Amino acid sequence: PARTRFAPSPTGFLHLGSLRTALYNYLLAKRTGGQFILRIEDTDKKRTVPGATKRLYDDLRWAGLQWDEGPEVDGPFGPYKQSERTDFYSEHARKLLDNGHGYRCFCTPERLRELADHRSALGIATDYDRKCAHIPEEEADERAENGEPFVIRLLAPDLYPEWSDLVYGQIGKQSLRSRTGESAWQDPILLKSDGQPTYHLANVVDDHLMNITHVIRGTEWISSTHKHQALYNAFGWEPPVYAHVGLLVDGNQQKLSKRDRATDLAFYKSNGYFPETVVNFLALLGWSHQEKSDFFPLKELVEKFSPKFTKGNATVSFGKLEYLQTKYATKRINESGAGFDEIVEQAVEAARQRYQRFADSHPDFHDYIVKVIKADVNSFKTVPEFIHRNAHFFEPLPYETSKKPLSDASLAPQTIGGEIHAELDKIANDVWTHENINDAVQKTVQQLLDKVQPKHSAKLKGKVSERIHRYLRVALADGSYGPPNITTATLLGKQVVLKRLNGAAI
Ligand code: GLU
Repeated sequence: PARTRFAPSPTGFLHLGSLRTALYNYLLAKRTGGQFILRIEDTDKKRTVPGATKRLYDDLRWAGLQWDEGPEVDGPFGPYKQSERTDFYSEHARKLLDNGHGYRCFCTPERLRELADHRSALGIATDYDRKCAHIPEEEADERAENGEPFVIRLLAPDLYPEWSDLVYGQIGKQSLRSRTGESAWQDPILLKSDGQPTYHLANVVDDHLMNITHVIRGTEWISSTHKHQALYNAFGWEPPVYAHVGLLVDGNQQKLSKRDRATDLAFYKSNGYFPETVVNFLALLGWSHQEKSDFFPLKELVEKFSPKFTKGNATVSFGKLEYLQTKYATKRINESGAGFDEIVEQAVEAARQRYQRFADSHPDFHDYIVKVIKADVNSFKTVPEFIHRNAHFFEPLPYETSKKPLSDASLAPQTIGGEIHAELDKIANDVWTHENINDAVQKTVQQLLDKVQPKHSAKLKGKVSERIHRYLRVALADGSYGPPNITTATLLGKQVVLKRLNGAAI
């Protein structure tokens, strides 16, 4: 069983790419009967955004990715917020001082800046010259005891160790020395002068102490992983298995940036996308599978998932998102379960807000919404889109239909409108049913045909029927696509239908 973790820093909203990372970790844990751990990496106080942690919990739960261990649920390896684990980090940094893999660095920020300026003027990497690596131990101890500020650095090897990535395969040794051959090393800082750990130390110590077996994260962390491998070696620990997955990019191969609204999960939530849509969509962005379908509700993902990923970046196709959303909407509406009830509740609320007058005057608004949603099953996408597109069910039409140009001489709108009106008017109020309306429309088709050309072909019949339906769609639904005309007419009721056929803006 795999123990995986999602280790976000609460620095803002939940980016789609982060949610995908969380999902893959979740899936691997669940697939293997292991645990999915949530760890909050909040050691950088300056970058922590108030409220972001809470939102993170909400977002993960919204997506259905409940963690087995972590904040709010606890577990045997807590605490699960790095800001509450400071002692672990200083203790471990000290271990490295003791075993010779770490050293105290007393260089002042000014000196480091000068060093950096000097090096960047020369056009070389801003590494460290290891001045403090040569301070004798007793002297360093004494200076620390006297209160001189210091950081603890890793005494890195000349070469980063090689390691094997689940996606990218064997990754060779990397030189840690400055490429120019100057005496400069990338001895990463592990503990800062205020006693706070850096990302590298906290991340590695926690993955080890929490018994994490697999780390799935974005390729932007690969350069960190080199350092992490060196750290594992310095501690004498076995590293977890790493899988680095590509970035999410748009059609132009540009990284989806945080400025892009559609990268924020909140965008999908507030626009009525279902969690199952977003989860399914994200699962496909980098997971490589042999299945024929790409329709995978979370439960199925858990059954089918294997940690095989495509190399390189994943291109986000929003068309796919729309496609999946429509499929899940149909599923929810047809199943009439809790997912449907949720749609109805949201739609009732949204419609009440937008069409307050109608809602207040309708005897059973809730039931009416249920009917309209069911009628709309083939077009339904999201609640906001549904409410917008189906305005004609909730408010008067904004124009007088007779003014809409939709004619050729023999089948002028007036003629069509008049004929249908006459037929529908014959239906008594209490038998205003789908069947009777349908019969009336069929009858009208026949009558018009007789008028236009008594000896007609099947083709002409199709044409007339189509013309009538086009007329009805404009007259009843403002031309909007959605439920079939007969269904719309049934739901609108006789009075409204007749008035709309008369061209009234009602
Ligand atoms: N805290 C890092 C982040 O914000 C964690 C990266 C990792 O998974 O190691 O993504």
